[in-house]
Amino acid sequence: MLRRIASSLTLVATMTFGLLALPRPVVGQTFDLLIEGGSVLDGTGSPAFRADVGVRDGVVVSVGDLSGADATRVINAAGLFVSPGFIDMHSHADRALYAGNAFLRSAPNLVAQGITTLVFGPDGRNPTWPLSDEIAGYRSEGTGPNVVPMVGHGTVRGLVMGDDYERHATESEIAQMAAHVREGMEQGAWGLGAGPEYRPGRFSTTEEIIALGHVVADYDGFYYSHQRSQSPLPLWLTPSIVEEYTPPPTWPSGWRLTATDGMAETIRIGRETGIRVVGTHIKAKGPTTWGQSAIDVMAIDRARAQGVQVYLDQYPYETFGGGSVEVIPKWYYAPPGTDRSGGLDDPDWNRAELRRDPIGSLRAHMADPVLHDEMIADIEFILDLQGGADRHVIVVSPRDPSLVGRTLADLAEERGESPVQTVIHLALEWGTPQLRSGVRFRGIAGSPEDVERYMVQEYTATSTDGGVVVDPGAGRHPRYYGTYPHKIATYVR
Ligand SMILES: [Zn+2]
Repeated sequence: MLRRIASSLTLVATMTFGLLALPRPVVGQTFDLLIEGGSVLDGTGSPAFRADVGVRDGVVVSVGDLSGADATRVINAAGLFVSPGFIDMHSHADRALYAGNAFLRSAPNLVAQGITTLVFGPDGRNPTWPLSDEIAGYRSEGTGPNVVPMVGHGTVRGLVMGDDYERHATESEIAQMAAHVREGMEQGAWGLGAGPEYRPGRFSTTEEIIALGHVVADYDGFYYSHQRSQSPLPLWLTPSIVEEYTPPPTWPSGWRLTATDGMAETIRIGRETGIRVVGTHIKAKGPTTWGQSAIDVMAIDRARAQGVQVYLDQYPYETFGGGSVEVIPKWYYAPPGTDRSGGLDDPDWNRAELRRDPIGSLRAHMADPVLHDEMIADIEFILDLQGGADRHVIVVSPRDPSLVGRTLADLAEERGESPVQTVIHLALEWGTPQLRSGVRFRGIAGSPEDVERYMVQEYTATSTDGGVVVDPGAGRHPRYYGTYPHKIATYVR
């Protein structure tokens, strides 16, 4: 079985391969590369030790006192730490590495963080199928970092159910999905990636995922999940939609899914399949969810004590979301009266004709007393979910750059109005019409206590939830560039 996609190795990456066998140093050895005088952190959790590292043909062949050796290239690492390359447990770089040009495939913003291995299948998706085609795409031109291919749960669900996915799968459909998972595992996948908070996965039952997890177990693979909910409500719901939403019978508690339910599902999948399971890019979003880390840690510790192999990964920030926070729910794109029962993630909301006149549409909604109140309630919910008005920082304001860096609460106070009124004012009058909210916000939705409590658990790995970017663009989450340096500088050092 394919276990590693060959790649142009970086220096740190080479250490990943050779550490298991450490030949004793012999005076007179020659290496292609000698990293000398550093403190080696070998990735096993052991304390750093002073050693030289010798590399030959892209493989670490010797670690120890290599003072008598010759090398084509020598790097003096005195005063520095030398470590294996970092593994990014949740990467959206798959499309860039599958089909990008040489520059994108080198993944400069990731490699510069010390990342040398990327886990794909994020949120249950693959850039193409069958998996052998995806792997062939990586192989054809090569990739900068190493690649861990995964079968996406959403991918196989979409293959089997097509557009008719807003329901439970039948036994026969689950069997077909299982066959696709087996095919992917045979072709080199390491396991199953899932995103049951997204379409089409959010219409699945836990039993469906467990059935697929049993296939993964045959290959000693693992499961990782963007969990079914990370907040008081899944991200596709706001209070006004809850009102008219008819939940499909996908979950014992219907739509009322919390972050606790999301974690409990991941643990159950691990318990019933015996495979390693990972709650990926774990977070506690919004003040009403703050403290969730204590609940999660308690649940995980208990499960692990019972032998369930539960893990987490995390990016080390209190702000979430790759781009900017949309504080106005996009149901206002559509004319008043449009059916909202599909949720905020309904593909219908993305139709181009709905986006032609968003300001006119927002005005029409605000003029209708019922829709006005629903819109206000939804915006208040989103502002709170994203940390509160005092934690919404304006990061882009093309029309009035002096707003950049100010918080929504600050602006609202200055104007003598509520934060929601300021949101509406920015969208309708003050901001840039091309931006849905007139400006771009970054919400600081996490608490430092949760970030640290998740981080210090021995079973928590690091991930970027980022991808390859060439131009960061204002509003971009810093995790794309800063995840590993920030973690080391701020939390380790
Ligand atoms: Zn995700």
